[in-house]
Amino acid sequence: RKRLEGRIAIVTGASRGIGKGIALRLAAEGALVAVHYGTRRDAAEDTISAIEEAGGSAFVVGAELDSLSGVDRLLQILDEELIRRTGSNQFDILVNNAGIGTSSSFIETSEEDFDRLFSVNVKAPFFLVQQSLGRLRDGGRIINISSGVTRIAYPHIMTYNLTKGALNTFTLHLAQLLGPRGITVNAVMPGIVDTDVNASWLHTPDGHKHAVEMSALGRVGEPSDIADIVAFTASPDGRWVTGQMLDATGGSHL
Ligand code: NDP
Repeated sequence: RKRLEGRIAIVTGASRGIGKGIALRLAAEGALVAVHYGTRRDAAEDTISAIEEAGGSAFVVGAELDSLSGVDRLLQILDEELIRRTGSNQFDILVNNAGIGTSSSFIETSEEDFDRLFSVNVKAPFFLVQQSLGRLRDGGRIINISSGVTRIAYPHIMTYNLTKGALNTFTLHLAQLLGPRGITVNAVMPGIVDTDVNASWLHTPDGHKHAVEMSALGRVGEPSDIADIVAFTASPDGRWVTGQMLDATGGSHL
């Protein structure tokens, strides 16, 4: 029997990058996976195809998460799909992965940049969890994708780092709040991972060298490196770990 057989997972931002890796891994463990995307339905459908080719089950949920109405839309679509497939809107695992980066330095950051980063990276997970509490089963899991930049000084992307710091604090408090229901809440903090957000600099020789040298293990992270850690915390094996910020940086800046 697979570890997540009979479980239902929602992974936000699962059309591409780390979220796609997490969706593939949770589906391979037997979970039915809701593959959320913002605008790239084509990419989300590629994720579904890859899951189905590997023998798993998944469906798409599209909603832009830059406002509260996007969170409502996500849950409305999710409810409809889950009721149709399972007869109830309950689920077991919520992975808050969708997020955006910044190219503005501290000094360049506008109010608009600041608000957009906080809307997508903090406000959406905050209200998605708040609105999911009646849908998330006791014994469930919440996993927030944070970042290693909450542990090291990386001031050129300050506003982004603040959003991930907020997510860590959210994780700690939620773990206390939801512990009585047997729900664990953890943050996974990736270092540099080879995804679209980093493509512009990571695929240059200098950028690649810089990223490789950052990790004690001497390479750049892949989505599967992060997905394996998420799968552990999502699984029954992870039941006694809660309120933790799990470093997934390959030993960057030790
Ligand atoms: P990608 O840019 O590759 O993918 C982002 C995903 O989030 C996509 O599925 C995208 O959907 C979705 N998304 C983005 N903005 C919105 C929005 N406004 N509304 C709804 N969905 C949205 O990102 P990564 O895979 O690199 O990053 C995933 C998470 O990991 C993020 O939270 C990021 O901060 C974090 N992280 C990444 C690191 C890295 O080095 N890559 C390092 C540390 C943390 P769509 O395809 O529809 O656009």
